Amino acid sequence: MKTYRIQRIKGGMKFTCTICGHSVSTLDFDARVGNLRTQAATTINAHSTQMHHAPMIISPSDSQQRTWR
Ligand SMILES: [Zn+2]
Repeated sequence: MKTYRIQRIKGGMKFTCTICGHSVSTLDFDARVGNLRTQAATTINAHSTQMHHAPMIISPSDSQQRTWR
């Protein structure tokens, strides 16, 4: 299950966290370091893992009564 979605933006792509709306774009990275899309995906995946302990499936009815720790 993906925890982010990808949108095309002008000059690149934008990766948005589906849980909290945090986003990064390929414009934030340096193409000389490596593939922009890979860097952005890695960053948003790391965000999900650190901030939301993803990957996990969150059901809307469940999320309010539980603490994710
Ligand atoms: Zn998030």
